Amino acid sequence: MKGNIDSSSQYAPRHFSYQRILSQEVHIGNSALGGNHPIRLQSMTTTDTMDTQATVAQTLRMVAAGSEYVRITAPSQKEAHNLAEIKKELKKRGCEVPLIADIHYTPNAAEIAARIVEKVRVNPGNYADKKRFKTIEYTDASYQAEIERIHERFSPLVKICKEYGTAMRVGTNHGSLSDRIMSRYGDTPEGMVESALEFVRICEDHNFHDIVLSMKASNPQVMVQAYRLLMQRMQAAGRIYPTHLGVTEAGEGEDGRIKSALGIATLLQDGIGDTVRVSLTEEPEYELPVARFLVNHFVKQAPLAPAINEPLPDPPIPINPYAFQRRKTLATGSFGDGQVPRVVSDLSHLEIQASSLIEAGYTYIPALDKYNFSDIAADFVYLGKKVPPYELPGGLSAVFDVDTWELLKDRNRAFPYFSSPAAFVAATSQSEMLNFVALNSQQLPPLLEQNPKDFETCVWILEAEGCLPAHSWRRLLYTLEGKGWKQPVILRVDKGETANYYSDQDLAEHLRMGEEAQSQLHVSASCATLWVDGLVDGFWLEKADASLLRTAFGILQLARMRITKTEYISCPSCGRTLFDLQETTAKIRKRTEHLKGVKIGIMGCIVNGPGEMADADYGYVGVGVDKIALYRGQEVVTRAVPPAQAVDALIDLIRQDGNWVEP
Ligand code: SF4
Repeated sequence: MKGNIDSSSQYAPRHFSYQRILSQEVHIGNSALGGNHPIRLQSMTTTDTMDTQATVAQTLRMVAAGSEYVRITAPSQKEAHNLAEIKKELKKRGCEVPLIADIHYTPNAAEIAARIVEKVRVNPGNYADKKRFKTIEYTDASYQAEIERIHERFSPLVKICKEYGTAMRVGTNHGSLSDRIMSRYGDTPEGMVESALEFVRICEDHNFHDIVLSMKASNPQVMVQAYRLLMQRMQAAGRIYPTHLGVTEAGEGEDGRIKSALGIATLLQDGIGDTVRVSLTEEPEYELPVARFLVNHFVKQAPLAPAINEPLPDPPIPINPYAFQRRKTLATGSFGDGQVPRVVSDLSHLEIQASSLIEAGYTYIPALDKYNFSDIAADFVYLGKKVPPYELPGGLSAVFDVDTWELLKDRNRAFPYFSSPAAFVAATSQSEMLNFVALNSQQLPPLLEQNPKDFETCVWILEAEGCLPAHSWRRLLYTLEGKGWKQPVILRVDKGETANYYSDQDLAEHLRMGEEAQSQLHVSASCATLWVDGLVDGFWLEKADASLLRTAFGILQLARMRITKTEYISCPSCGRTLFDLQETTAKIRKRTEHLKGVKIGIMGCIVNGPGEMADADYGYVGVGVDKIALYRGQEVVTRAVPPAQAVDALIDLIRQDGNWVEP
């Protein structure tokens, strides 16, 4: 891999243990952010801002669920004015939670809101700049003239914030970079960072520093790269503003949780992030336990993580943290060298019956004596010492303990497992094609004294060491990489037994999501950074079942490493949404979830929707009352379809493009 970064471009102080980056403190009403304050949780209302009672009721539910700030959209002056009513009603009910006005396009609404609420959020892509999906050539002079125009347009808000003690979030979204930024930097993390820093410079010109920054994207890799770059730039400049973490338009249910975990957990692991908002296409109060779980995963577990006591020095960082590049490895059987990541389901804890394979994605049909398998079926099953008395489904290979494997008559589609590199070296027989070898950090120093060529048929199964295994996985992998060991690596993960690490109150709050959701978050948060940085080639699912298998394939899909299903990019909805986004998303999902690899955006409004779903193949976007626009990529195909016909029209569009298959 190339892209070694030198210490001057480091974005985080530590890569192999948890240390939160110390940002400057910003006061937001009665709840300070950054510095040594806890990582704050927040969410956003989905009600119409003009409906004071509904917004107040939802705010109270969010606060009860743990929201420490509440964001409310203010699309125009009338909503901005109504924030005063909402605030008054909340106060009457004893609630003084800091409110944040969410602004897009409307400086006049921002200037009203900044006098009322504790914080305003502006999007530098559309506050005083334009987004029309046009590439406009800017000369240096015309570019500078635009910046001066923005300075003039944005300065009044900065002055109001300063006068009223109102904080500000400069929140860049990948999908709504201005034409000007796009023309110079393209659709890149660098463009996202520069877009925010232009606004920060204007704030600093006015000696205003109550600033929070965010770099959201619906693609976790882009989002992570942008925050890291921002952090590196702020460290180099000597002033670190607090950061607000979020993956935009993450979607609903397990996809939304996994996608959020991939982006947010990767950054938290590096010590980045002072406040978190998880955006799900669900009621906002359901976002908070997810955010809490992710924060707890690092903050509460870090003191319990084992100290690294191996004798090897910290390795150099072999990746470019600001651009994705998959680790280059040897091709070992069906692993590595750019092949899709593989999944091994450990079924050694189950009775070996044909029906047990359902936990690995294969459903046995006795009447036909055959298997049905889905797109999310394991590539290998580990059976330990249990040799099945029946033939495995075609396409499925098996892994056995080496002593059992040695005795097999038919080793076609059967491979050995070794409990350590030493066991591999000592074995009397090995596969010529593919050997699975467990590896942990204690076994690494003696391994590195050997000749890597003797291990060219090995795939390393990295053991999870301690409660935050990604640090030790990363250290081990960087060490292997630094020494030129190029075997593919897979991660051993389990469903997570986190009960020991949390207080009873934490556990009760986590449980509000349900056990399956907790497990999805545990697995995703544990390994997020390894996938986001393209370092690994598969999963070994310990004590696997269908739910752990689904989580693993969900991670591979949402990290864009192995596409097995339709991807939905849906916004969480807000006061701009004029249709039931959750119900519509469910309808669209029901009709299209078999369209493997197709990305569908479902967005509440035309103001931000098209930008936010920049990545989607098709879009379903609310335009106004009873009007839906359909998009092919970024191109509007029809602008005013009645909602009752819009899902059929979307499917017709997919059909016209030849991308439809019958379910
Ligand atoms: S895209 Fe969705 S969440 Fe974003 S502003 Fe529009 S309706 Fe609100």
